[in-house]
Amino acid sequence: MDEIQSEHSSEEELLKTFGITYEELQEADALNRTQVLRNPRDPRICLCGHAVSRHSITNGIVYCKPSAMGCPCKKVKPVIAVSDTRKFLRKSRGGGRQHALMLGVAALLATDEQVLDQNRAPARDAEGRLVRRAKTAGTLEWLEPPACELCKRTDVGVMPYLVTKSGFATDEPTGFDALLCLECRATI
Ligand SMILES: [Zn+2]
Ligand SMILES: [Zn+2]
Ligand SMILES: [Zn+2]
Repeated sequence: MDEIQSEHSSEEELLKTFGITYEELQEADALNRTQVLRNPRDPRICLCGHAVSRHSITNGIVYCKPSAMGCPCKKVKPVIAVSDTRKFLRKSRGGGRQHALMLGVAALLATDEQVLDQNRAPARDAEGRLVRRAKTAGTLEWLEPPACELCKRTDVGVMPYLVTKSGFATDEPTGFDALLCLECRATI
């Protein structure tokens, strides 16, 4: 232990000649390493609408790849934990209900599912109607009590919206998302 410490302090001495500290050097090293967040058991979903486990960080830059398509997500911001992260593979088509997070929530909470298995004839009832297979809804919970990012209120409903880097509303995924109440949404 003593040896390591003395080694470390001689390193400190050496780094002084570069004008930086050991901590600063380690910080830079951590940034350069690719941080792979792919833990398949991670139940968290990022505000972009995709599983945290589909993100990686290289040189401080976030990459989100939920499926064949990429997502421009710029910051990993876990907001909810869910029972099935595979429901979160959609692309934002706009803000609010059209946002990937809400499309994922809709898929997660859907309680019945049509049999789409190609190898199986869809089940029909006595009157020939397609029988929907019963499915239990998935579960989700907020990691933090949901609050509007602008007015900070927690007693109002909030939904994810697409915003530009400077905070204006947009219908195109830019990688910037904000949780807003309806009132604040109207002001951007
Ligand atoms: Zn994301
Ligand atoms: Zn994403
Ligand atoms: Zn608000």
